[in-house]
Amino acid sequence: MSTSAKAKKGAAAIQKQLDDIRQRILKDGVTPELAKTATQLVFGDGSPTADIVFIGEAPGKNEDLQGKPFVGAAGKFLDEMLAGIGLKREDVYITNIVKYRPPNNRDPLPEEKKVFLPYLQAQLEAIQPKLVVTLGRHSMNCFLPDLQISKIHGEPKRIRISMKASDDILTIVILPLFHPAAALYNGSMRQTLIDDFAAIPDILTKL
Ligand code: URA
Repeated sequence: MSTSAKAKKGAAAIQKQLDDIRQRILKDGVTPELAKTATQLVFGDGSPTADIVFIGEAPGKNEDLQGKPFVGAAGKFLDEMLAGIGLKREDVYITNIVKYRPPNNRDPLPEEKKVFLPYLQAQLEAIQPKLVVTLGRHSMNCFLPDLQISKIHGEPKRIRISMKASDDILTIVILPLFHPAAALYNGSMRQTLIDDFAAIPDILTKL
């Protein structure tokens, strides 16, 4: 959606759609086992009219306690990289595929990713960002199942998804990046992530 179309639709209307999706996850009882062990649902945070949506894999301990994605060490690193391109968290939208913390921070299971995908897609349909930045392979593989992050990180890929709410096709550009938690203590991956991240403004202007 263009920026002017979004302004017309209005932040409040998009926020209402997002609130409805959040309620639907609770009402549908998605991943009851995870819901039982988690403190709370971690739905998403940021601007409903954002041009960029960041998608991680699942909440960790701090996120589970605070109810917001990326508020621990990986989140601090993400905030630093955002600041490096002149953005704050409030300028973007941040979420995860799986919206409850998996016990002991284990990887989300394929089934858990699958059941949360329609809700993630609904979030993207509501926000209609120009760019979707996937953080890590779990998030990338939801949209680009056959590709390897080590080969295609930093390369924007255009995909088309059928919208659930209408007969329209939503075209989104996915930018696969390494996960900040994986890159945090790995020197070369860290620099690659910082370099890929720094290219975001340039990629956005070309869209
Ligand atoms: N890692 C993620 O993938 N998501 C979070 O919210 C925090 C850490």
